[in-house]
Amino acid sequence: MKMPTTWDGWAARISLYVRAGKQLLNEPRFPVRIEEVALHYSREAFPQDPILEVRGENCRGKWEGALVPKEDRSGWGLFYDSGHSSKGRKNFTMAHEFGHYLIHRSLIKKPLFCSQHDMYAWDSAYAKMEAEANQFAAMVLMPPDDFRDQTKPFLAPTLAQFEALKDRYEVSLTAVVLNWLKMTDRRAMIVVSKDGFIDWAWGSEPLYKSGVYFSAKKETIAVPSQSLAGLGSATGVTELRHPAGIWNLREGVLESVVFADSHNMTISLLIYPKHGPSRSEESDEEPELMDTYQAFERGQRP
Ligand SMILES: [Zn+2]
Repeated sequence: MKMPTTWDGWAARISLYVRAGKQLLNEPRFPVRIEEVALHYSREAFPQDPILEVRGENCRGKWEGALVPKEDRSGWGLFYDSGHSSKGRKNFTMAHEFGHYLIHRSLIKKPLFCSQHDMYAWDSAYAKMEAEANQFAAMVLMPPDDFRDQTKPFLAPTLAQFEALKDRYEVSLTAVVLNWLKMTDRRAMIVVSKDGFIDWAWGSEPLYKSGVYFSAKKETIAVPSQSLAGLGSATGVTELRHPAGIWNLREGVLESVVFADSHNMTISLLIYPKHGPSRSEESDEEPELMDTYQAFERGQRP
């Protein structure tokens, strides 16, 4: 059988393999058990060059996942960081490394180590190989047909709604939200902050096109002090509709938050109004309000 040559070709091939296997075993379609899939599929399709083991290793956050050729070139080892408790993160990482194996292994001459940040590189401008592995993982674990059906009823989405999908697909909350941002026609953004500063953020295409985007990689940006992320978990509030001037100078924003117990990490989902302010309104900006917001609306898409 002719082998695919692109990440989406591979994702379609593996999705088909998974569905056929699940039907044969009379199992529910989700979640996809990527560890079993990687071992079985690679042995069937590439008996000379299979994945020989999938294993967790506590690497203390030095890397999130790795694809390592055996010294005798008899096959590959697929590793994930077992040092944290998130089942979803491990599953996504395994799918990401399986993607590298299928799409890139002929290019990999030495062990490939992927960081946690690599798992968030869904934009091809950042790093082609990492973006391809992430897009592969997302498509296999959260197939677009099912994902669209699940998210269609979300009118004003909050993180609480995405939590249920995280369990359905067994992926991390950020992976579910990024997958939605990639396909939605809503203006929305995920902001991940640590210790009160924005670590990274990613907005949907419609939001980007309306001129709202920023880069926390280039500048240090504090989360707005009146935002839920800024106020912290002590308030007990996890969803709030803000007026203009909190997250965005000109627009009110619906913010929902999840406070992760580890690493003082906060995830905010910001839902903006369906349509951005018109260009003519932009000239009415008040200069004294421009500090944080200016950085927030000016930088480059990561
Ligand atoms: Zn990678």
